[in-house]
Amino acid sequence: MFPYTSGDLHIGTGMLWRRPMFTPVSNVCRALTSLHPIGFDAFGLPAENAAIKRGIHPREWTMKNIDNMRKQLKSMGSMYDWSREVITCAPEYYKWTQWFFAKLFENDLAYRGKAPVNWCPTCQVVLANEQVTDGKCWRCESEVVKRDLEQWLFRITRYADELMEHKDIDWPERIQIMQRNWVGKSYGTEISFGLEHPGIEEKEIRIFTTRPDTVFGVTFMVLAPEHPLVAN
Ligand SMILES: [Zn+2]
Repeated sequence: MFPYTSGDLHIGTGMLWRRPMFTPVSNVCRALTSLHPIGFDAFGLPAENAAIKRGIHPREWTMKNIDNMRKQLKSMGSMYDWSREVITCAPEYYKWTQWFFAKLFENDLAYRGKAPVNWCPTCQVVLANEQVTDGKCWRCESEVVKRDLEQWLFRITRYADELMEHKDIDWPERIQIMQRNWVGKSYGTEISFGLEHPGIEEKEIRIFTTRPDTVFGVTFMVLAPEHPLVAN
């Protein structure tokens, strides 16, 4: 994993140490004399925000941080092949990110869609679930809000069946169960409940259930807070 170019790489930074585990990986690679590349995750709004705050170009802030972090990594004695260093904001790197994206788009695997996201109003950035701790942003500790955002999505569900197929891979059963639960495929049916309510155009609520046989026992229905009907 490439560290984010936040500027400092020391034990107290914690987060940078906990996540990519630079030292153990470096030790294993040393023992096996295998290729150990390094790079810097150098794109994103934190760089832009820091630049706005300091009145400088984001490149200046990012490159200065990289120089410092490179020095720190070297002083820790980490054994990297520096001739293969990558910096994700460099054109010679991101041309490949763009190339991959174009391939996904050409094959209808990237599309525009609306989806709820975790939004940090201070960093002005979308956060992954892992970056939200107790409802707060991991970087600035602001309260994170849910927002419906038009964005690029990947059609990963097209590979759900393939991702459940492990017969040619020698993985422990525990990992296979984790993978199956992550894909989360379940068999069931869609049922439409008629809807009639003044001021609401929709004429039905469609639900998915794995137990259609229990539908006659339904006495009430609860919509998820992010369901579009709730806003009405
Ligand atoms: Zn934040």
